[in-house]
Amino acid sequence: MSLWNTSIEVFMATMRAEGMSRAFVVTDPDTARVNASHPVLRTLADAMASDGRDFDGHEGCFFEIGRESGHLLTAFIHKTRRGQAVGGVRFWTYDTVEALCRDGLRLSKGMGHKCALAGMWWGGGKGVIARRADQDHHDPDVRGAVYRDYGRFMSGLSGCYVTAEDAGTMPADMARVFAMTRHTTCIPPEFGGSGNPSILTAQGVVIAMEAALEWSGLGELAGKTVALQGLGNVAYYMIPELLARRVGRIIGVDIEAGVVDRALREFGDVVQARVVDPSDMSICGEPCDVFSPCAVGGTINPATIEQIEATVVCGAANNQLEDPQRDDALLRDRGVLYVPDFLANRMGIVNCANEPYGVIDNDPVIQAHLDRTTAHGVFRRALEVFERARQSGRPTGAEAIAMAEELAEELHPLWGHRGQDIIDHLVRSGWADGEPVGV
Ligand code: NAD
Repeated sequence: MSLWNTSIEVFMATMRAEGMSRAFVVTDPDTARVNASHPVLRTLADAMASDGRDFDGHEGCFFEIGRESGHLLTAFIHKTRRGQAVGGVRFWTYDTVEALCRDGLRLSKGMGHKCALAGMWWGGGKGVIARRADQDHHDPDVRGAVYRDYGRFMSGLSGCYVTAEDAGTMPADMARVFAMTRHTTCIPPEFGGSGNPSILTAQGVVIAMEAALEWSGLGELAGKTVALQGLGNVAYYMIPELLARRVGRIIGVDIEAGVVDRALREFGDVVQARVVDPSDMSICGEPCDVFSPCAVGGTINPATIEQIEATVVCGAANNQLEDPQRDDALLRDRGVLYVPDFLANRMGIVNCANEPYGVIDNDPVIQAHLDRTTAHGVFRRALEVFERARQSGRPTGAEAIAMAEELAEELHPLWGHRGQDIIDHLVRSGWADGEPVGV
């Protein structure tokens, strides 16, 4: 039986039966062969190697059983030519090893695209921790053990992957990770971190909207109608940005009454907001200039694309397209200009990735991303992607990925292919035979 299709419990039991608490699958940089740390993982390595879509030459995938929590801790590292891999750690429930790995592989690749397109000297990475069905993941004691373990895991990986916050992980968890390792970013401000990224993310998304409207010949946001799917952290901060640009109308929906009430309380004179069921996608069909998915992934699919009346789709949500290839092309064919999510929502990672270089109010390095004149900024990068897509005939999502992949080949100007060097060191030094590190 292939380990790829087993449950997380069977995978961990297999590791324990072989006396392992650590394992890896890595791509040999010289031969491109996908190797595993132990023969029992061969089926896993083969499944990854034969998967052209999500695996796509990942430099390394690392697994550890947390010694304090007994949770499966993982790290996925796509390409590190631009720098060490960076990306958040997700704490989620997975039925199979395949489901967990696909999430990690897909997300680390996405982080690499996001960083490369943003001109950042970071590679693509993602962490995933599998929730245990027999433990309450809300319990602070459980979380304490899980995230201390994750910090130990990061220390053991020696910095080829630098972790951050993601779905299921909270600021208090990042403080626990930080207590055990230096290889993390996105830590709470009281420890020198950068704090809530949502305001900057909101600003970046609105600037991406401006680029798309300008490109479409529709001018500025003034007088336009914007439909927001989700009124959470990012969308809430987008509202004042949109109002400052004198938008004509904002329509918003959320599944949480409290979130809708907050928007109505603060902006009720200009925002029309309503509560919807999670399956209610009527906001996609709202007559508007810009439809902005700011809730969850996958809300753009053939059924919703058919309803879209907007000229532009541009939002904060990650993985907005249910099927990236299919839906990217469908949007183009319908005459809708899609701003790739990883281009529009980069400011979250821009805000925190460079924390080790210090934190400055209105940091000029961060603000440059919001400046219309910066070549790698949101505005000009968006125009560049639209122009390339016009010339190639490809949809904008595919074009943005092609451009990101070109940029991902650039070597870090000071550190070269450091992430790969660290992975090579881990493989050579017998990392997989070691024990989780730290106290
Ligand atoms: P959030 O959880 O604060 O807000 C999301 C909102 O969407 C919630 O209020 C939720 O109730 C609502 N929602 C969920 N399903 C819905 C549905 N079917 N219809 C309508 N509303 C629904 O999250 P956020 O921080 O605002 O982030 C929004 C999206 O942007 C997420 O996908 C996130 O991954 C992505 N993102 C956020 C940042 C950031 O800086 N916060 C950065 C990059 C990407």
